[in-house]
Amino acid sequence: MDNIEREILEIDVLFVGGGPASLAGALHLNNLLKQNNTEASIAIIEKGSEIGAHSLSGAVVDPKSLNELFPNLKNEDFPFEYQVSKEYMYYLTKNKKISVPYIPGPMSHHGCYITSIGKLTRWLEEKCELEGIDIFPGFAGSELLYNEAGDTVVGVRTGDRGIDKNGNQKANFEPGVDLRAKVTLLGEGSRGSLTKKLIKKFNLMDGKNPQNWAIGVKELWQLPEQKLPNGYVAHTLGHPLGHSIFGGGWIYTMKNNILDLGIVVGLDYKNPNIDPHHELQLLKSHPWVKSLLKDAEILAYGSKTLPEGGLYSIPKLNVNGAMLIGDSAGFLNGQRLKGIHLAMKSGMLAAETIKDAIEKDDFSDNVLSKYESLFVDSWAYKELYKARNFHQGFKRGLTFGMANAGLGLFTGGRGFGLYKKLSSEHGHEQIQKMETAKNFTKYENIDYDGKYILDKVTDVFYSATSHDEDQVPHLHITDTSICIDKCKEEYGNPCQNFCPANVYEKVDDGQERIQINFSNCVHCKTCDIMDPYQIIDWVTPEGGDGPSWKNM
Ligand code: SF4
Repeated sequence: MDNIEREILEIDVLFVGGGPASLAGALHLNNLLKQNNTEASIAIIEKGSEIGAHSLSGAVVDPKSLNELFPNLKNEDFPFEYQVSKEYMYYLTKNKKISVPYIPGPMSHHGCYITSIGKLTRWLEEKCELEGIDIFPGFAGSELLYNEAGDTVVGVRTGDRGIDKNGNQKANFEPGVDLRAKVTLLGEGSRGSLTKKLIKKFNLMDGKNPQNWAIGVKELWQLPEQKLPNGYVAHTLGHPLGHSIFGGGWIYTMKNNILDLGIVVGLDYKNPNIDPHHELQLLKSHPWVKSLLKDAEILAYGSKTLPEGGLYSIPKLNVNGAMLIGDSAGFLNGQRLKGIHLAMKSGMLAAETIKDAIEKDDFSDNVLSKYESLFVDSWAYKELYKARNFHQGFKRGLTFGMANAGLGLFTGGRGFGLYKKLSSEHGHEQIQKMETAKNFTKYENIDYDGKYILDKVTDVFYSATSHDEDQVPHLHITDTSICIDKCKEEYGNPCQNFCPANVYEKVDDGQERIQINFSNCVHCKTCDIMDPYQIIDWVTPEGGDGPSWKNM
């Protein structure tokens, strides 16, 4: 494909991914350049069919970054659902709900707002368009472009369209475009496919804790009438995850009697039989949750990973010609269950650095490293520092994790970290520690009634996901012989369990193999993270394909 003639577009500043980090970064940069009477072209590309189509979050948002970005607006002007008015933490047993009497300050959502990240990103998109910032939805960044020496990022190639499943050009073939930029910001979200390659090429995780991800699985339900107060926020611990798996459930109220319901499951569990989608169905089988869903109708489904590792898992943030922002860089506070304000702040700090780089006409690693210094001097660093050992404590179970988190509140985030930094391991290494999947019991059967308790295929329907089936699958298994020869025996093919969209399916049509139903993929990236042999490589499909989330 390399001898294809491609259009080349020159841009000064290119943001890859149209999430909150990129949109806030582009707007802030535009404001700074205007104040300085400096001209520069800014563009954002987004792999979803529109801004927000691939954005999924809980979400309860701290408005801090929005307040900084829009100093003339009030919180009522932002596209929030409700201000948090009642917040609860519950410990669930299989049938009971026990209220946790005290929510410590750093875990409280006081002053924050229940939000649809889809609505927020579309609102930010409108602000960008009013400022003349170019936004190109439906364009996936498929490859990083380097200079001849290979030491400087000079832009991104967008994916080709119209290649059939055998790799041949179809009649509608359109080659990808080379977007050549002075600086490229990767805001691809969690486990970005270009970010992963950049981190590897430049060893950006050297000296850092490995990133630990979690998966969020979420459903929106239309309630027949108001059942909970506006601004109601509840988080749950205990059932169904128990004490050995990091995570818990959430229930928030949205406008028009919509219930936002989901579960976060830490992707550092040891049992290869764990199935995050199944865990959500188990949560919905709890009598309390079941009573909330009585006569409700499913509206939407989705799933996404989130970087939970915290401060010590943030990579080096820049190289010559490129920077990492948002979830791609791990800007998320697991203790507060919040990342949107940090993602936006990271984009804004990167923007301040780029303003200087434009003035100097120097986009080298040295000049871009100001981004790290600005981060260290910012409230975002201070906030993450206080939660720096939070996630690592949970690798020893819920009880130790809670004790470590509690101690952290009195030690400025140190917890049990004797030398200040608790270490962590990759999630797939936890699975690798198991000798065999047979050590663990499978789930009890659950009755998928098709109305409240939904199987994966039904749920995928509500994610409005589609991919052109006649294209090269965007999920590459680099050695398929491992699936049946080794993985089946050792771990029981956990891809069938951890994928929340039924993409991986073991079939036997004369020969046992793993069938990849790639058109179901909701782009959560769990397989790329959690496969125990690290042989799954998630790459971007044709631009515009994937979920079409509206208000997730
Ligand atoms: Fe997520 Fe991978 Fe399944 Fe796609 S194939 S939904 S990225 S686990």
